[in-house]
Amino acid sequence: MSEALKQKIQDAFHEPGCATNAAKPEAERKKGCAKQLTPGAAAGGCAFDGAMIALQPITDVAHLVHAPLACWGNGWDNRGSASSGSELYRKGFTTDLTELDIVMGNGEKKLYRAIREVIAQENPAAVFVYATCVTALIGDDIGAVCKAATERFGRPVIPVNVPGYVGSKNLGNKLGVDALVEHVVGTMEPAEPGLTDINIIGDFNLSGELWQVKPLLDRLGIRILGSISGDARYAQVAMMHRARVTMLVCSHAFMAIARKLEERHGIPWFEGSFYGISDTSAALRTLCRMLVERGAPADLLPRCEALIAEEEARTRAELAPLRPRVGGRRVLLYTGGHKTWSVVSALQELGIEVVGTSMRKATDGDRGRVTEIMGTDAHMYENMAPAEMYRLLREARADVLMSGGRSQFVALKARVPWIDVNQEKHEPYAGYMGMVELVRAIDRAVNNPMWADLREPAPWEVPACEAPDAPFVLASVPGSKADFEDC
Ligand code: SF4
Repeated sequence: MSEALKQKIQDAFHEPGCATNAAKPEAERKKGCAKQLTPGAAAGGCAFDGAMIALQPITDVAHLVHAPLACWGNGWDNRGSASSGSELYRKGFTTDLTELDIVMGNGEKKLYRAIREVIAQENPAAVFVYATCVTALIGDDIGAVCKAATERFGRPVIPVNVPGYVGSKNLGNKLGVDALVEHVVGTMEPAEPGLTDINIIGDFNLSGELWQVKPLLDRLGIRILGSISGDARYAQVAMMHRARVTMLVCSHAFMAIARKLEERHGIPWFEGSFYGISDTSAALRTLCRMLVERGAPADLLPRCEALIAEEEARTRAELAPLRPRVGGRRVLLYTGGHKTWSVVSALQELGIEVVGTSMRKATDGDRGRVTEIMGTDAHMYENMAPAEMYRLLREARADVLMSGGRSQFVALKARVPWIDVNQEKHEPYAGYMGMVELVRAIDRAVNNPMWADLREPAPWEVPACEAPDAPFVLASVPGSKADFEDC
């Protein structure tokens, strides 16, 4: 690994804005905060995958992976980041390096030709070139190729030097965003910078969640100038340095860019969430207050309060008929990061009991918030093995599991409905209208009559003398020893 890359990794681990990191002794800090992958465990992705996840939702960019074919196939398009414009980010581009290319030292030439081809055919706003294990190990200098291509083709060609072997997906998130800070942020100027321009960092517009919030910002006259990376364009990243305030939505991986924007360009930032009624209102209030502190018109504050009052009233009216159908239900939440607390808080607003929440990828700040919201840390869990999750679902008599797709089969085995709340989900749950959608999803799941039937003992499990008159009773063998003993 090059010295420059080693230094970058150390810098990523030394995040001064992270309270957890700051509290660690020096030796611990060097190890970093992300758990290293177990070879062969196939659980969680590599650093390259993490960089792709962070940057791929930039929609008008050609994301070119310099690798043998399989690296791209590993992570391509498995998340539902939606775009309101260009669909270029959904196309996969790779140099498809073969053994012959590696033996003959053709990697850099092939990369240069691939950049030329993708610019000619797709006319992208920029090309992001991703290094991977093989191309980093054979020593291809993607930085030099990108520089030459930028000069030759007059188009930004950005090196993302995060080969998979440097660490975990989480580290890849950080290093991917670091490439934006190094090569993109500050390279363009907005035509009309405004006093109510903001950055939103850490929202990926999954299933269109950002669009549930944007109308609220539009009504307040707040413009999303910079975005990483929800429904983002290259120019939005390049102009981030002119925003007035940054909102950090996912607190764990992207703190460094919010901090650097503050240090270099004086843009204050805060952590917030658009999940749940009260958190959405709190985020809007904080945004408006900080914008006014930086010179936005003072009437933004009363307009914000009026909007919150109107939206909260409308949302509560829509939730009223649903509340008795979901109130008192018991949920096991298995997600990560800021959702550990923001979804808990949203569910509790509806009178839903959270029997447990996982603390995967959560910071000390996230833990503190969960303890504050739930009143105890007794229901926090780290990584949960499927058997343990199954046991908890049964013992806690959970009515529903809310998690990512990998846990759905545990829920089905435990005969408990499952709701997808992770990145692969197809329903958006952000903002006020997202809250109504979430409650509708819970209602559909827990009140589906199928579950009552499914939880009934199978006909062959019922002693013949107790079984109702039904053709299924014939499944047990009348007069068998077991039948007489049970009766
Ligand atoms: S970058 Fe490395 S670890 Fe990641 S998919 Fe490619 S070969 Fe595998």
